[in-house]
Amino acid sequence: MEARFGTAGNGDAFYGAGHKSSLEAPAWLRGLGLAAYEYQCVRGVNISERTARALGERAVENDIALSIHAPYYINLAGEDPVLLAKSKNHLLKSLRAAHWMGATRVVFHPGSAKGSREGALRRAQAVLGATLDEAAREGLEGVWVLPETLGRYSYLGLLDEVLELCRVAPNVVPCVDFGHVHAITGGLMTDREAYAAVLDRVEAAVGKDVLRTLHIHFSPVEFTEKGERRHRTLADAGFGPHFRPLAELMVERKLTPTIICESNGTQSEDACAYRDIYREALRRQRM
Ligand SMILES: [Zn+2]
Repeated sequence: MEARFGTAGNGDAFYGAGHKSSLEAPAWLRGLGLAAYEYQCVRGVNISERTARALGERAVENDIALSIHAPYYINLAGEDPVLLAKSKNHLLKSLRAAHWMGATRVVFHPGSAKGSREGALRRAQAVLGATLDEAAREGLEGVWVLPETLGRYSYLGLLDEVLELCRVAPNVVPCVDFGHVHAITGGLMTDREAYAAVLDRVEAAVGKDVLRTLHIHFSPVEFTEKGERRHRTLADAGFGPHFRPLAELMVERKLTPTIICESNGTQSEDACAYRDIYREALRRQRM
C-alpha cells in the first residue's frame, strides 16, 4: 500500500482541459496518477444527495479516496448560541454529504481562539461532542471528523489543541496542515527533526493506526509574524514547507497518509510533484 496524493477541489488545469463539473474530477485525477480528492464545501454544503451519490460512484470506479472540507463559517468555540447552532448545522450537513458520497473524512476549522484559549478549547470540545451525538442518532458515526491545524494564533488550531479535540470521540482524528504548521512556527518545517517531532506528537496522542493513515494538507505558504498570509504554489520559488524530509520519514516509518495539496490553482501539478518526491524516496529505500 502507498500514500495517496490528491487535490483540494479543482485546479486551473482541470478547467483549462474543458471540464466543468466536479463529477468529472475522479477520472481526471486518476488520469494524472492521483488517488484522493477533497471536495470543497468551504462556502456552504450545497451538493444534492443525487450528485453526491454520483460523485461517490465515480470515486469508487477510479479508486479515488474522497473527503470533504466543511464550511469556513464553522466556529465551535463561539459563545453566541445562534452562531453555535449554525456551526453545528454546517458540520452535520457536511457529514450527511460525506455519508451520501461514501467519503470517510470531513475536515473542518475548529474556530476562533478569542478570549482564553483554554475556555475556547473546552467550549469547542463540548459543542463537538453534542454535534457528534446528534450525528450518531442519524447513523453518521462512521464518518471521521477531522479538526485541522490552522495557520494563525487567532484561531483555535495549534497542533496540541487539535489533538485535545481528538479526545472527544474515537472518530475525531487530526488533519495536519503542514503549510499552517510551517507558518505558525515561523518557518520550521524544513528538516527531518521538525517533521519527526510532529509525527511523534500525533502518534502519542492518537496512536499508530491513525498516524499511519494520517490526513495531511500540504502546500507552499507565505507567512508573516502573525502566521499564514496565503497559499502559494511550487512555481513561486522560496516558500516552505519542504516536502522531501516528510517523504523520507513516511517511507522509513511505513506511513501511508493521504496528502491533499491546496496550492492555489496548481494543486494537481503540485500534488504530482509531491507524489514524485515520495516515489523517489520509496525507490531509494528499495535500492
Ligand atoms: Zn482547511
